[in-house]
Amino acid sequence: MTFHAKTTGKYSLELSINHYPFITSGVWQTPECSISILDGGWHKAAKIYSRRMGSVFKAPDSPPWMEKEYHGWVEVIMKRENTPPKFKFSEIGEVYRKIYQDTGINHIFLVGWHDNGHDTKFPRYLPGEECGTVEELISAMEDVKAQGGRCSLYTNGRLVDINEEYYKSGGKNAVSLKEDGTEYIETYKTSSVFAVTCPGTDEYCAQMADVTKRIAGDYKADGMFIDQISCNLAPFCYSKNHYHTKPSNNFLPGVERQLKEMRRAHKKINPDFHTFAEGCHERFGQYYDVNQGHGEEYTWQIGKSMPEQFLYTYPDRIVTGHCADKQQMYHSMAQFKPLDVKPECYEDPSNLEPIRRYVALRKAYPEYFLQGKFIDDEGFVYSNNIRVFAVEAQDQTMCISLWKRGSDENSKNEGEVKIPQGWEYDECIFPEKAELRQDGNWLQANWIGPVCYIKLKKAKGTTKPIDK
Ligand SMILES: [Zn+2]
Repeated sequence: MTFHAKTTGKYSLELSINHYPFITSGVWQTPECSISILDGGWHKAAKIYSRRMGSVFKAPDSPPWMEKEYHGWVEVIMKRENTPPKFKFSEIGEVYRKIYQDTGINHIFLVGWHDNGHDTKFPRYLPGEECGTVEELISAMEDVKAQGGRCSLYTNGRLVDINEEYYKSGGKNAVSLKEDGTEYIETYKTSSVFAVTCPGTDEYCAQMADVTKRIAGDYKADGMFIDQISCNLAPFCYSKNHYHTKPSNNFLPGVERQLKEMRRAHKKINPDFHTFAEGCHERFGQYYDVNQGHGEEYTWQIGKSMPEQFLYTYPDRIVTGHCADKQQMYHSMAQFKPLDVKPECYEDPSNLEPIRRYVALRKAYPEYFLQGKFIDDEGFVYSNNIRVFAVEAQDQTMCISLWKRGSDENSKNEGEVKIPQGWEYDECIFPEKAELRQDGNWLQANWIGPVCYIKLKKAKGTTKPIDK
């Protein structure tokens, strides 16, 4: 089943629920479908949805360290096809040291470490020969660990290179077929030609579980990225040789099986190993630890992006904020998210100090930034020149951020926010020199930089939660 929403004019909206029964004979009846028209904004609908689906889709069993010291990653591209590597495996320890000194983030995400570089030869994932030997890769992982850091390796969980050995020796049966029997072909500006997998097939699940074992076991990595899992198109497969009973029930159960087998493989080898995947997904996200959000940058296909929506609906998941430039970086910080620092963001020296200060703030206030419950701006009224986000801590306090879109480190900003009933102003935790004035229930803030973080506490004599 899929759900579709389309604006057909300034004041009209078309909604549809599509089923794909693929009946060949007999009778088929849709399951019950119902709609409800709600007043107010999207929070109310998300809450109803979350109450129902939150009991179906559970948070993953993530390693305990993630709740204490997870701040995202800095992405590093080692090598692209037809160009020499930027650095060798033997230099990874040095690359890590510099990134940690520059940003305070103790996790690097290596892209292009395998085969002929990024976007080549999936799903082989053998260390790129030009980058060094397997032994050098393993010793680099140990070097990063010895420095208190973590290093994760890139994989793609959806594509098969049709010119490679894997495809020729059985992998051909692991890809989705169109109705005319041909494959769904995709290319990514490399010489590799990829077919989209049929994800639950035995051949593909076994291969990806084996890759996971090598990465978590042999190569001693701390984590693994699985690209294209939770946001790319999932085509129907018309192969008659596969496990699925109709073309439309391949991807959802298929990816679930693939992720479960990969998770089982690394949990057995290293309970502290973690995984992160592209996109936000309530169902698949049960089997990996971190959802790589995109909304600060762009949206895939549906109107204006809402990077706060998934985390509001599923506050027990980890969602990173996309940081390819300064504005996306501050948008991510304002939402209290761990950072997905892209190479272009890291390469702008003016971003390094803000990242360092933000990571220091996360370390000083894990109750908000790592363990807090994200409530977006629900229950808040504020001046329209700013955007407010809020998280609740388990100790009955709250932290709110006042974000001025478009501003930078040197901007002088001001904003007003009304303290919700049952709460009172406690202190400003960032930046140090912010000026706060209280006028009745309203708090007026003047500060320098894009984001100001303010702590609230329960008002004396009230035990009631925030008025929703
Ligand atoms: Zn199939």
